[in-house]
Amino acid sequence: MASGIQWLDASFAALFGLLFGSFMNVVVYRLPKMMERQWAAECATFSGNEPPVTEPFNLVVPRSRCPHCGHGIRWFENIPFISYLFLKGKCSSCNKPIGLRYPLVELTTAALFFFCIWTWGVTATGVIWCVFSGILLTLALIDWDTTLLPDDLTLPLLWLGLIAAYFEWSGVTLQSSLWGAIIGYLSLWSVYWAFKLLTGKEGMGYGDFKLLAALGAWFGWQTLLPIILIASIVGSVVGIAMKINASLREGGYVPFGPFLAGGGFAALFLGASSLQSAVGL
Ligand SMILES: [Zn+2]
Repeated sequence: MASGIQWLDASFAALFGLLFGSFMNVVVYRLPKMMERQWAAECATFSGNEPPVTEPFNLVVPRSRCPHCGHGIRWFENIPFISYLFLKGKCSSCNKPIGLRYPLVELTTAALFFFCIWTWGVTATGVIWCVFSGILLTLALIDWDTTLLPDDLTLPLLWLGLIAAYFEWSGVTLQSSLWGAIIGYLSLWSVYWAFKLLTGKEGMGYGDFKLLAALGAWFGWQTLLPIILIASIVGSVVGIAMKINASLREGGYVPFGPFLAGGGFAALFLGASSLQSAVGL
């Protein structure tokens, strides 16, 4: 039976999810650019040049601007979801549309937080699954946009999965979590090298190994197979659909990370044990 408290807690979590989703939009947009700047500076240093002097650019500075006209976004235009409705999805200065993805990411995060607190309550388990969902969605979006899975997100996700298992927050034993991380990493690592030796091409990146290692740490080694199956099947279907649509990007590359993340969300929603029994484990 759903109680009033359960509704109240989950609704507060959803509000917090809107705010967290808003921050995630900033991370998705800026973190890859911050990495590129860092690489450029490192390349310059290695080749003996002075690193280029650039304006500070991080998750806080500079202020968000309209990508069309450069209009500085004021605080009341930056309220998650509400401002999008209030601005009718347009920049207040140039009237160009604001990407629909921003409010969608905020609403999706709100729904994920609602789900976690609804299911597990305001407990360490509920909160840690909120954090898991937020980081996983951020990784999926960055990989979709840039084919990068930043270590700044995959590695904390991996550590948090091991810590959550240690404190018995995630419902996975530490042993299962640890082997999940090891087997998760090594399985895709082996596929990568087999594919590279056979075809001379790189089918995926090291970020994919780290992401699957993280999912193994959260759901245990027993859940790795169903996650890989879901990711491969959905990923192939989407890849073929994009090919038919001629919407593949240059190089015909479809990032694998968003589909691995999809497998992780399936395990979160359906429960690791039902995914395991679906593949006969
Ligand atoms: Zn504008």
